Amino acid sequence: MRDLSPKPANTAGPAPEFPWPEAKTCALFPAFDVDAESVWLGADPQNARRLITRSYGGYEARVGIPKILEVLRRHEVKATFFVTGWAIDAHPRTCEAILKDGHEIAHHGYLHLRPDTADEATLVDEMDRAIETMQRVLGITPAGYRAPWGETSDEQMELLKSRGIRYSSSFRDDIRPYRHELASGKGPVEIPVNYSFDDWSYGLTHRTSPRAMFGREEVLAIWKDEFDQTREWGGVTTMVMHPQVTGRPMRIRILDQFLDHVRGYDDVWIGRGVDFTDHFEACEAAAS
Ligand SMILES: [Zn+2]
Repeated sequence: MRDLSPKPANTAGPAPEFPWPEAKTCALFPAFDVDAESVWLGADPQNARRLITRSYGGYEARVGIPKILEVLRRHEVKATFFVTGWAIDAHPRTCEAILKDGHEIAHHGYLHLRPDTADEATLVDEMDRAIETMQRVLGITPAGYRAPWGETSDEQMELLKSRGIRYSSSFRDDIRPYRHELASGKGPVEIPVNYSFDDWSYGLTHRTSPRAMFGREEVLAIWKDEFDQTREWGGVTTMVMHPQVTGRPMRIRILDQFLDHVRGYDDVWIGRGVDFTDHFEACEAAAS
């Protein structure tokens, strides 16, 4: 039975008006989802025998991520990469290069399976296998999580809490960080996503999911408008980029020019997910 009773989808209280660090008035959270080949394998196991479909994801380690790291270095921006456990096992050197530049690697499932349709054993396996991989291959413990396929469930939120995941960056319902309220009590901090920054919608087309591609002027106009108004509202702009999309030659210019635009202001705090979470928790502790 589905519960269709009239109640808000999210029972968390309003996002607190905590000040941003360093007297900044708004924030940018540059974040990438490294799905690699696992997004294609997780969507359809038959893709294991489809080398060209999988090569969309293979572009990330071969070209997309190194080129994105160059752009971030040039802009002196630190970002968060939500990487699947499968991608860490398959591309350990690439992940080491991400960490070496001071970026954060966070949890994005193991095989990029949908949390809303998985049974309980699969949910637990996706969660724990990825944590084990991050510890074994990279020696890190993830502070944050982004839901594969942009979907999650009550069970998954409780699982994040039980595994000590401190933040989620998946929900679309705010412009400031807030703390989740779960059936079991307080949950992780949420750094909500702006879905206009999901590059997959504008720039990736495949024969099984064909869609129109959008050019630089169109995407940059959307990104600037969303960012500028969020800045005026004092919120955080959270990005959802994929190296198999934004790492393509034409699309990397959109990121480059967007970072130029953001860095033209001097009141924007740019942080990694773990930095947002440290700051939120410090403000929470000071307020209590
Ligand atoms: Zn993903």
